[in-house]
Amino acid sequence: MDRFTAPPYRIKMIEPIKQTTLQERKESLEKAYNNLFLLPSEAVYIDLLTDSGTGAMSHYQWAALMQGDESYAGSRSFYRLEETVKEITGYKYMIPVHQGRGAEQVVLPLLAKHSDMYFISNMHFDTTRAHVELAGATAIDCVVDECFDIDTFSPFKGNMNVEKCEAYIKDLGRENIAGIIMTMTNNSAGGQPVSLENLRYVYALTQKYDIPLIMDGARFAENACFIKQREKGYDKHEIKDIAREMFDHADIFLMSAKKDALVNIGGLIVIKKDVEFFRECQGRTVPYEGFPTYGGLAGRDMEAMAVGLKEGLEEDYLIHRLDQVRYLSEKLRKAGVPVQYPAGGHAVFVDCKNMCSHIPFDQFPAQSVCNALYLEAGVRTVEVGSFLLGRDPKTGKNIESPFEWMRLAIPRRTYTYAHLDHVAEGVISVYMKRKELKGLYFEYEPKVLRHFMAKLKYV
Ligand SMILES: *Cc1c(COP(=O)(O)O)cnc(C)c1O
Repeated sequence: MDRFTAPPYRIKMIEPIKQTTLQERKESLEKAYNNLFLLPSEAVYIDLLTDSGTGAMSHYQWAALMQGDESYAGSRSFYRLEETVKEITGYKYMIPVHQGRGAEQVVLPLLAKHSDMYFISNMHFDTTRAHVELAGATAIDCVVDECFDIDTFSPFKGNMNVEKCEAYIKDLGRENIAGIIMTMTNNSAGGQPVSLENLRYVYALTQKYDIPLIMDGARFAENACFIKQREKGYDKHEIKDIAREMFDHADIFLMSAKKDALVNIGGLIVIKKDVEFFRECQGRTVPYEGFPTYGGLAGRDMEAMAVGLKEGLEEDYLIHRLDQVRYLSEKLRKAGVPVQYPAGGHAVFVDCKNMCSHIPFDQFPAQSVCNALYLEAGVRTVEVGSFLLGRDPKTGKNIESPFEWMRLAIPRRTYTYAHLDHVAEGVISVYMKRKELKGLYFEYEPKVLRHFMAKLKYV
C-alpha cells in the first residue's frame, strides 16, 4: 500500500516559518544548553516536539470561536459541547477541563479510595502515571509483548495483555484495584492502536470483577481509524460507529482535547451513567479546574472543541493523517533507519539505541541524535528514553530505559509532505554520521522532570 493520500483541505491562512543557518543553529543550541526544550520556537524550522495542541483549526472552528458565551455559569457553549460529546460517546455526563491532566487530577484520586491501591493499564501516559502516584496508588503497565518487537508487523501493538492483567487482579485482590486504564491509542508505545476485540475482553474482565474501566482516549479517533483499516469485520463501518462501539466498552472517558479534538487547549471528563461519581467529580472540579460548566476553559474554547471533535472523526481527514505518519516512517525505513514498525497514529519513533550503540545509556544516545537532527535540518524532536526516565528514587542511580527513542510527532493539518521530505533527509544524513555522535552529561540536573530544564554538555 504505497499510496499516500493528498490532504482533504487547502490552505487559506499561513504562518511563516524560517530556516536558519548551521551557524545560527549551533549558537541557538549552545544558548539552550544542548536541551531542545530550552530553544525559542523561532529558532526551529519544523517543530515535531509534540502533536499536543499544535494542530491547525478549520475555518469552521475559527468561526465558532466568535460564538463563545463567556458566562461563568450555564454558558451556551457548555451546552453545545455537552450535546456533541453525548452524541459521540453515548455517555450521560460531561465536565470540561483545561487539558488531559486536569481530568486526571479530578478523577484518579476519587478512584483510589484507600491507600496502596493499583491502576493497571496497557501503558500509563506519563502525566497519568504521575497522577496515579500523587493519589498514593501504584501504576502497573501490562501491554502485549509484540509492542517490544519493533521490526515485526503486528496490527494492534497497543493491546492489553489480558491474561497478565487478570493474573494481577487475582494476585493483588480485586478490592485493591482502583481502575483499569486503556490508553487509546497507546501513546507511550508510539501511538499503537488497541483492537475492539482486545477492548471487549478487557471490559468483560472489569465487569466480572466490578472494576471501573477508564478510557484514556486522547487519540480515540485515530484508534478508530486503525480499527477500520486493520480489524476483521470493520472495513465497511463508519468511523463514528467504531468510536461508539469503543465507548460502549468503557465506563469513564478522559480526554486531552489537544490531540484528536483538534484544539490548542482543552480536555474532558465523560461518565457513562454513574451519577454519584459524576457529582463527586463535579465537586472536585470546582477548586481544581473551575465551575463545572467551564472547567478552566473560555466559552470560545468549548465552541472550537465541539466542532473539532466532529472534524476529528471525519474519515478523509483521518486517512490522510495516518498516511502522513506512515509516509515519513516508510521513507526512513527504506533508507535503513531503524524505526518502530508499523508506524503509530501520531509519531515516528527512531531507535537510537540500535543507531548509536557506542553511546552508553547514561550519556543519552537519543538526546544526542535529536540535537544532531536540529543542527542538520532545524527540526525539533524529543527524546523518549533514559534522559526522560530519570533516576531511581531509592538508589539515586540513572535508570536504563528499555528503549532510546527519538520521537518525531506530527502536528495535525499543519505540515505538508514536502516538509516531511525535508525531515526525512535530515534524519537520513544524521543516520549516515551516527558513529561520530557524542554522548552528553549534566551541567545542571533538576530533581524532578529533569528533561524539561536540564543543562547538558558533550563528553
Ligand atoms: C496528552 C495526553 C495526556 C495528558 O493530556 P494534557 O492535555 O497534555 O494534559 C493524557 N493521556 C494521554 C494518552 C495523552 O496523550
